[in-house]
Amino acid sequence: MLTLTTDITKINRVGVATARKLKRLGVETIQDLLFYFPFRYDDFTKLTKVEDLQHGMRANIVGQIELIQNKRSPRKRMYLTEALVSDETETVKVIWFNQPFIARNLRVGDKVSLAGKVEHDHGGIVMKSPVYEKVFYGASVHTQGLVPNYHLTANITQKQIRFLIKQVIGLANKLLDWLPDNIKGDLKMLGLGQAITKIHFPENQNDIKQARRRLAFNELFLIQLQSQLIKQELKSSQAQAIPFLKQETKEFVDSLPFKLTNAQRKAAWEILLDISKDKPMARLLEGDVGSGKTVVAVIAMLNVALNPEYLGQAVLMVPTEILAQQHFNSISRLLARTSIKIGLMTRSARRVAQKEPTLSPRFAGEAGSPSNDKPTPKSPPKEGNVSKKKMIEIIKKGEVDIVIGTHALIQENVEFKNLVLAIIDEQHRFGVEQRKTLINKSGDRPNVPHLLSMTATPIPRSLALALYGDLDLSILDEMPKGRKHIVTQVVPEEKREDAYNFIREQIKQSRQVFVICPLIDFSDKLGVKSVKEEYEKLDKQVFPDLRINYLHGRMPARGRSASGGKATSKEQIMQDFLANKINILVSTSVVEVGVDVANATIMMIEGAERFGLAQLHQFRGRVGRSQHQSYCFLFANGRQGSGILPSDKTLKRLQALVSCHDGFALAKMDLKFRGPGEVYGTAQKGFPELKIASLYDYQLMKQTRDEAVKLVNHDKSLNKWPELVKKLGEWEKKVHLE
Ligand code: ADP
Ligand code: MG
Repeated sequence: MLTLTTDITKINRVGVATARKLKRLGVETIQDLLFYFPFRYDDFTKLTKVEDLQHGMRANIVGQIELIQNKRSPRKRMYLTEALVSDETETVKVIWFNQPFIARNLRVGDKVSLAGKVEHDHGGIVMKSPVYEKVFYGASVHTQGLVPNYHLTANITQKQIRFLIKQVIGLANKLLDWLPDNIKGDLKMLGLGQAITKIHFPENQNDIKQARRRLAFNELFLIQLQSQLIKQELKSSQAQAIPFLKQETKEFVDSLPFKLTNAQRKAAWEILLDISKDKPMARLLEGDVGSGKTVVAVIAMLNVALNPEYLGQAVLMVPTEILAQQHFNSISRLLARTSIKIGLMTRSARRVAQKEPTLSPRFAGEAGSPSNDKPTPKSPPKEGNVSKKKMIEIIKKGEVDIVIGTHALIQENVEFKNLVLAIIDEQHRFGVEQRKTLINKSGDRPNVPHLLSMTATPIPRSLALALYGDLDLSILDEMPKGRKHIVTQVVPEEKREDAYNFIREQIKQSRQVFVICPLIDFSDKLGVKSVKEEYEKLDKQVFPDLRINYLHGRMPARGRSASGGKATSKEQIMQDFLANKINILVSTSVVEVGVDVANATIMMIEGAERFGLAQLHQFRGRVGRSQHQSYCFLFANGRQGSGILPSDKTLKRLQALVSCHDGFALAKMDLKFRGPGEVYGTAQKGFPELKIASLYDYQLMKQTRDEAVKLVNHDKSLNKWPELVKKLGEWEKKVHLE
């Protein structure tokens, strides 16, 4: 007997070959098959009378075969199957191409239902290559009503899959409906079995609508429920309350070489308010490239590190070594006048920084409040490089207040003495699991650290709800004053020389240049520029007199090359570039996030068509970081001689960057051009695949969230809903494995 978990090979007429093809679509059991949803429907709800057929329509007719025969087309040498079909009104000619077997399947006198396109041909009306089906008793599957269409590959036909689903659709009623009855009742939603039945075999448009609504609700509801459970758990756990250090914060802000924007003040305030409570913060700080997120993070870290009551630690995790290094340097500089000790922890570098404090005694941490339980002063670790073992020890003993690092922080054997605040920069580069791991390093206290995530990827409201329903949101919607727009141009190949001349001029004025290429190595097939090729070309032919080097993710992170040779580690190259020992740096997208080289004024991007707008905007954000006017040149063609020219669509897309400097708007355009998976990495690990729900359906998103909130507030353990708990468990496991 067939059940939901039965292997599809047990279904009538599924052989080994078909099973293999279905497996490639992810369909192995009957349940999988039921959850393989159509993506559209042909509407054959209305039968058309043959006499009413007109050129250009898609129509469904029912009639009798008067004549059917195979022919060979004289010129094209293919089979034509021609038939005459008539109903009570008229006769119409029908043609199929290269399917001679049809003449064996259909006989004169058969009653058939045909669905397909109607065209004008040699003065008469013809139905071309319609889907056909013999009409017996009962409903037809392929040619009448609303006929489902599935995304298919692997040589399975629409007819085959419909036939299979038709055989097992009865089992849909055996599906366990895990959605609580009261939600279904309140929102007037279909049962799961009904929804599955109607999504495959709807009787009318309303059936489709209702079925989709229920199935989309399923997908979004589980996401929201998970978020709410995480949020509840956080709410019920303890964090260390960090009181606002007014004086120290003010001194720090006053010591900055610039004035904070209002948006920065507001965000910093929201964060300080959060961490002053004994419930863990869970907040996302969103701000365009260059909006100044780092300093906001530093204000929060400073309040943790200088807190006189705890030996609290803060950690800042970033996605690349270059960025870690840079944050370490700049934050050490910003905090140089305090007693705060800062550690760097990456796979290849460990370092400690602490300067002599020069600010007021309290700010410098020398004479805190004279209470008795004041912790013993920390023994200051020596400034400079330390071994990995030593750094792990220093962190564990609480001898550094702020730790900046990469994935190494979660991969290595790192544990904090007392982690109070965890900050994740460019958080879209990390999975949910990695964020969790970091939080779990907080030491042996029962407290959960406050969490701040930062991102430069602007996320529309509904998406933020879906992706980060468990996080509160702070937005930096204001740029620091005086930033100049970066002059952006899409440069046609024939103007390349001009661009090079311009670069030469800029370098004469001591400015520096990034050149971005999509690939590291030469690739024959793609016709796309690579770092190594482009470096060779610029170094040998175009600018033999200039200092040029390259950078990519496969290079060693640290180390110095033999004396006199070119720098060959990422760190050394970035240092040389920062010190203006390199005029032009040819690089892959490793410099995409965060890198800050104020003297660089030209960003030249090869193969720009291969990047999304939001990403190009990030590249562009690498320049324009000083008072000098900066430029971004986009090249959208393959390797020279590859003959690949950019399409109009590509040019139009890139042109958006020329006029638009708002990351938020660009991300929206990206969505239109490329879809959310590409833009927000939702196609990545850690986010469930959505088959039916749209991430832009704010209405449904909000509804599912409201229901999840209600449910969790009512009964956090979900004890009343064992089926739901079971489903959530399976779902989490599946998402985790994807
Ligand atoms: P992002 O948000 O992209 O991480 P950063 O924090 O790296 O931006 O800041 C970019 C640059 O702007 C840094 O050099 C920083 O010192 C500077 N900056 C930050 N805030 C301000 C401000 N209010 N006024 C002027 N410059 C600022
Ligand atoms: Mg940043």
